[in-house]
Amino acid sequence: MAEKYIKLSDVKDVLANAGRVTEYIYDGYESISGYVIDDVDDGLTEIPIADVAPVVHAHWIKYDVDIAEHPLHCSVCGWSNHHISNREIENFGFCPNPKCGAKMDEEI
Ligand SMILES: [Zn+2]
Repeated sequence: MAEKYIKLSDVKDVLANAGRVTEYIYDGYESISGYVIDDVDDGLTEIPIADVAPVVHAHWIKYDVDIAEHPLHCSVCGWSNHHISNREIENFGFCPNPKCGAKMDEEI
């Protein structure tokens, strides 16, 4: 089952507007002990699902360190480009392959 994402501020609004279950402790002090489950369930169900994708982390791979002009490759999809210098590729913060888009921040 695919993960679904919602905004934290929306969840906080649901909890702020949900009915609360209270109990009384000694000397008449009131304590909130929980929320009305139906209020929380209904509120969370009504929050729109955010249009996000999980971040894929990757790094640049140089297959042959002895060949200076050998282009770097994306560790996730293998994307490379012989027309762009390795220095320029290393400055990309992400893989430019639109089907990949991995973020180039993976520690190796
Ligand atoms: Zn890639």
